[in-house]
Amino acid sequence: MTYKAEYIWIDGTEPTAKLRSKTKILPDGAEIPIWGFDGSSTNQAPGDRSDCVLQPVFTCPDPVRGGDNVLVLCEVLNTDMTPHPSNTRARCVEIAERYKDHEPIFGIEQEYTFFKDGRPLGFPPGGFPAPQGGYYCGVGADEVFGRDIVEAHLDACLAAGLHISGINAEVMPGQWEFQVGPVGVPQVADELWVARWLLYRIAEDFGISATLDPKPVKGDWNGAGAHTNFSTKAMRESYDAVIAAAEALGKDPQKHIDGYGADIQHRLTGMHETAPWDTYSYGVSNRGASVRIPWQVEVDQKGYIEDRRPNANCDPYVVTRLLVETICSAEQQQ
Ligand code: ADP
Ligand code: MN
Ligand code: MN
Ligand code: MN
Repeated sequence: MTYKAEYIWIDGTEPTAKLRSKTKILPDGAEIPIWGFDGSSTNQAPGDRSDCVLQPVFTCPDPVRGGDNVLVLCEVLNTDMTPHPSNTRARCVEIAERYKDHEPIFGIEQEYTFFKDGRPLGFPPGGFPAPQGGYYCGVGADEVFGRDIVEAHLDACLAAGLHISGINAEVMPGQWEFQVGPVGVPQVADELWVARWLLYRIAEDFGISATLDPKPVKGDWNGAGAHTNFSTKAMRESYDAVIAAAEALGKDPQKHIDGYGADIQHRLTGMHETAPWDTYSYGVSNRGASVRIPWQVEVDQKGYIEDRRPNANCDPYVVTRLLVETICSAEQQQ
């Protein structure tokens, strides 16, 4: 007998990478081997030297096919087994290893938008729905659009064993969020990439596409972000460490902005619950700041911070690596 392994990888599309996948049939009981693909079709190699290597790094049950079938997230390697330039995970793993004594954990809030017939789900043809106000966490056919897909995606993520911690309808019609975490790194990013693949794959069966476009509708409509909640062991024990983390992020904010997703300037305008991209700020309970300290964290005098800047289309290997690098290196200098 055999089983199906769906090999998933992140391609070389610029400025925002896409997910790709293909199926390998394996004999029952067989280990999951390395594999390869045509990098000239994914912006990862020239045609005359097209082979790239798929190195399995994270495996989980395949909730779409069921049975013994699996999803296999891979890193992309060159044929000499070094990390491919598009492989951001390798560097993330290196930094996570360097600072593992700080025990960093993450919870990422992935926002996204459903599209059908070239417009967000819930938008009427050639026009706009009622202004924002009633859609966030709404209920009823006039307020929320696509709940059947959202529920199917949630069930799939749970069946795959991913650490999904919740879902909610967002501020713009057709916009939703799921949260992954809190778990360590690179696990949170591995799980987020698999959850994104499942979102696209499941929406496909409904004839609907999901997009991580950070500003899918121009004008007075919320963008889509990937708020990244972060703590170290020290932050989970002391408020001083929480403040120190928020301060550390103010040292070189541009470095973070540059790694938080293409087109971030169009989302971080200072409107729609964002802080302007070129001005770093933090505050308790403040959803208009770059970084929010949740009110409960101030009450408890320990906990975590929320970096509200990352775009929905960010690469979580880059975002988590930057946060670990900046905050853990600052902790080390204390
Ligand atoms: P919001 O109020 O910003 O919408 P959410 O409930 O959507 O918040 O997301 C909060 C996220 O914070 C969750 O993913 C949760 O797992 C994560 N989180 C909670 N505690 C911690 C912690 N100590 N360190 C890191 N992340 C945490
Ligand atoms: Mn949220
Ligand atoms: Mn949200
Ligand atoms: Mn948030």
